Amino acid sequence: MAMEFIGFTYVTNFLGKTLRDAMFEVIDSANRLFEDWGLSIRFLYLDSLTLEPGYLISVKTKEGSVKLYPLEVVIDFLDYRLKVEMEKEDSLAMNKILGLVSFPLASRNRYFDIYESFLGFQTERVGRRIMVLSMRPFESDVLRMTLRTLESPSVEDEVKSLATKILRRELETFKARLLKGILHEVGHAFGLEHCSNACVMNPPATIEEWDLRPVGFCRPCMGKLKENLRTSRFVPR
Ligand SMILES: [Zn+2]
Ligand SMILES: [Zn+2]
Repeated sequence: MAMEFIGFTYVTNFLGKTLRDAMFEVIDSANRLFEDWGLSIRFLYLDSLTLEPGYLISVKTKEGSVKLYPLEVVIDFLDYRLKVEMEKEDSLAMNKILGLVSFPLASRNRYFDIYESFLGFQTERVGRRIMVLSMRPFESDVLRMTLRTLESPSVEDEVKSLATKILRRELETFKARLLKGILHEVGHAFGLEHCSNACVMNPPATIEEWDLRPVGFCRPCMGKLKENLRTSRFVPR
């Protein structure tokens, strides 16, 4: 069965090294799972994306004012990136792109509630699918605090060693949440709807609920996903 690729990129703005490394591990895990499950889908890394500060907007949230890039700007850049890739002579079977960002998803027009929209955003543009997923809602407060502590130059050794221990645990949680988020978006990209089983396609009301979801598709979702891959195969030019 021919492989279908999803371009993968991330926005470098506001993303530290620790979370970036964790993000790449998650993309690798997703590819391994696709292989284990016999799914002919793979992520293909397409470089990172750095946005100019001029695009920044300020959005008021419950946690105060947050600076971020509007969703429309991110989508335009991702679409352009995918188009360039698809126009190459030796282009692979790829008409989808996933962009991960470390800031909350918000639009110029309306504000998405951070904790309600954490399962990403997708849109279709003349045969190209653009997916954006924010990693921000998957970061616990403890994770953010620990990262800040470790970045501080004046941190004592004892505090540092404790923080490192906490970080390791919190990173595992972060990675599991992100992996499920990515699988959820991939499911949508290949035609899956939400379901109410023990499944990544079952959207959670809270992050605690998300932690209880298994890393995978339920049997009906997996069946539909495989069927969709077989019948609606994307054929490159
Ligand atoms: Zn969804
Ligand atoms: Zn399901």
